[in-house]
Amino acid sequence: MDVTAQSVWINCLSFIKDNIQPQAYKTWFEPIKAVKLSDNALSIQVPSKFFYEWLEEHYVKILKVALTKQLGETAKLVYVIKMENTYGNKQPFTEKIPSSNRGAMKSQDVDVPLNNKNPELKNPFIIPGIRNVKIESQLNPNYSFENFLEGDSNRLARNAGLAVASKPGGTSFNPLLIFGGVGLGKTHLAHAIGVDIKDKYPEKTVLYISAEKFTQQYIDSVKKNNRNDFIHFYQIIDVLIIDDVQFLSGKSGTQDVFFHIFNHLHQNGKQVILTSDKAPVDMQDIEQRLLSRFKWGLSAELQSPDFETRVSILKNKLYRDGVEMPNDIIEYVAKHIKTNVRELEGAIISLIAQSSFNKKEITVNLAKEIVEKFVKNTKREVSIDYIQKVVSDYFQMDVSTLQSKTRKRHIVQARQLAMFFAKKYTKASLASIGSQIGKRDHATVLHACKTVDNLSSTDKQFRKYVEDLSKKLSL
Ligand code: ADP
Ligand code: MG
Repeated sequence: MDVTAQSVWINCLSFIKDNIQPQAYKTWFEPIKAVKLSDNALSIQVPSKFFYEWLEEHYVKILKVALTKQLGETAKLVYVIKMENTYGNKQPFTEKIPSSNRGAMKSQDVDVPLNNKNPELKNPFIIPGIRNVKIESQLNPNYSFENFLEGDSNRLARNAGLAVASKPGGTSFNPLLIFGGVGLGKTHLAHAIGVDIKDKYPEKTVLYISAEKFTQQYIDSVKKNNRNDFIHFYQIIDVLIIDDVQFLSGKSGTQDVFFHIFNHLHQNGKQVILTSDKAPVDMQDIEQRLLSRFKWGLSAELQSPDFETRVSILKNKLYRDGVEMPNDIIEYVAKHIKTNVRELEGAIISLIAQSSFNKKEITVNLAKEIVEKFVKNTKREVSIDYIQKVVSDYFQMDVSTLQSKTRKRHIVQARQLAMFFAKKYTKASLASIGSQIGKRDHATVLHACKTVDNLSSTDKQFRKYVEDLSKKLSL
């Protein structure tokens, strides 16, 4: 690598770092590599098209200031996009785009006419016999962007959703895969994108469907011997939203038919939006060719909202319902219900209900009672922090030791056990487990899980660790 490109970039980075949020710096600037400096143009390598679009949209100004400081007014920036080559197993290739050439990356809007003249459209949503070609979008208008509050936990997914809604099929987020645990807003966000598209482009055919219903329709079509009609119906859709694709696990027939529909839509510049309770790397029993399609666009995670976001979600909900509630009570609820938004909403609804049925005033004590019941009744997920604490206590070390970079055997083992239990007891993705347990990558976590599996079947002492810890961790 060119030393000068490096040093120019390092100087740019230190300027940028001082001027933006640390989290944003980590996310958007640390992964960049400077690769070349020639003719006063600095080439930087970014991991994906999405990355490039995001930088251009949000950070082009600061990049320009930083670079001009280093290279003067004639400075230029060239992006080199590192792409995952998903066709076959050839070498990865790179693509260069000068930053002055804004918009050059936008995929072209090819208007592909339907091959089939679409004489008799069989719509699986319609009772046979009744002819109706208009496709109802099955969207819930109550799920909008407006009432999907933004926070650190969902910023990427929400903004990618907005981008898709303003140019369906015209961004590199195709498919857009939204993933995250239960009750974190996947279904809401998926609807919001569809609703917004319908609003902006009323002529587009948008369809929302759960993967479960899709599977059912497919099975029916096979029974009734009209599989082709089923496929054809889905191929004429402009924006296809499939909720909870993890449901397709192990259903190879449905996966196969979805693969064909997906390819057709994608090739014709149609937008596909998917949601899943797991990241693509963690999905099991989904065919590789389908998984690799899922990774073509953007996978955006919805995480548990932080305290501030929980408070604003509650306030927004109360405001929309026309209910007033003292701040200390809202904060009490937000402080104690952390796992997901559905529970948060549930608790506040019971609180409102309780107080109005029993004509009780809403007090912090009443909030306590209800929150307690709520927390007890819902199966709580152990947190990764808790697992790390239990494992390090068991081995009599600090959490920081457990997370440290050391290769000492007993520490490595403790760390691997923490990773193994995090995988077992939480819904966190391998990547997110790795980042929380000493900033490791997903491959390290996967390796840890395999090692623990192996050792507990070959090593008696080790099996004892696993058993003891399992007991401590099961609530
Ligand atoms: P999932 O599909 O991930 O299980 P849902 O989309 O059903 O979750 O969301 C659960 C509930 O939480 C819904 O009532 C939804 O409106 C609400 N919700 C989730 N995230 C947000 C948010 N960021 N702002 C407002 N409401 C939210
Ligand atoms: Mg859902």
